Amino acid sequence: MTTQASAARIGFIGLGAMGEPMAMQVAKGGHPVMLFDADRARTDRIARDSAGIAAGTPADIGPWADIVVTMLPDSKIVEKVLFGDDGLAASLRAGSLVIEMSSGVPDATRALAVRLGEAGLAMIDAPVSGGVTRARSGDLAIMVGGDPAMVERARPVLELMGSSLVHVGGIGSAHAMKALNNLVSAGGFLIGIEALLIGSRYGLSPEIMVDVLNASTGMNNSTQKKFKQFVLSRKFDAGFGLDLMVKDLGIALGVATATDTTTPFSSLCHELWSAAQKTLGRGLDHTEVARFSEMIAGTELK
Ligand code: NAD
Repeated sequence: MTTQASAARIGFIGLGAMGEPMAMQVAKGGHPVMLFDADRARTDRIARDSAGIAAGTPADIGPWADIVVTMLPDSKIVEKVLFGDDGLAASLRAGSLVIEMSSGVPDATRALAVRLGEAGLAMIDAPVSGGVTRARSGDLAIMVGGDPAMVERARPVLELMGSSLVHVGGIGSAHAMKALNNLVSAGGFLIGIEALLIGSRYGLSPEIMVDVLNASTGMNNSTQKKFKQFVLSRKFDAGFGLDLMVKDLGIALGVATATDTTTPFSSLCHELWSAAQKTLGRGLDHTEVARFSEMIAGTELK
């Protein structure tokens, strides 16, 4: 087994919009990588680009890797990859560490960690924020939950992917934090678009409104990095799925229910994003939620 963190062998499962650039950062950082994605052609291409090894199944990675990163759509898929047919868990060497970087469900993550622990395997949750742009530059915000010793063990690998690392608590707590971050982000997006729609019907230019918001206290991440770039441009290609945002809002509401918190704003926010998904269909970029706001306002932002 490799003992030096700088040379640790890293398995990487889930090579989508985020997983690909994150795996590339790990490979650029000098780690040998073994990669797996359900899309075989994607796995092969990224293995070539990273001088890594393409795995045929998650189980192929277990005997080879010291640490395995998962960057998958949701907790159900993470469970399948770990414990399903040709799953990773059964083939991992005792003492190996799984870093669960998807945006998952806190309770599900804790349950997976218990099952892995019974096999002598460790897990931490380390979801990310910052999107594809910051994944490409290795500049993500990473929140981490789990045993402090395991967090330290993961740190050199995480620092290749992110520039902010905050240990927020025990296993699952980072997944709760991530969902709450996206709740704030989702709310900020919708209220900003609604303001643009009101202003546009009043006769204000949406472009000028975004400039004013960004110089004023109404500024948020969406006004700064999404409205002109992906909504007013009508490109709608930020690289984060609407389905994933709805999933994250469901996780945040689940945390609210578990903590018996009264959440009128959060519930309405979840309802609006879910209604957008139902109305517009699945498989869209999350910035297309603006089209739903336009539909119910009866105005298009031009
Ligand atoms: P994505 O849909 O682009 O990629 C997911 C990848 O997982 C795909 O390549 C898919 O083929 C693969 N996959 C699906 N099922 C699989 C399986 N059973 N085995 C192996 N591979 C499988 O998603 P993404 O945008 O990269 O997001 C990944 C995670 O990161 C999600 O939990 C998301 O909520 C979170 N996240 C995304 C962003 C973003 O901006 N895109 C930002 C922060 C967090």
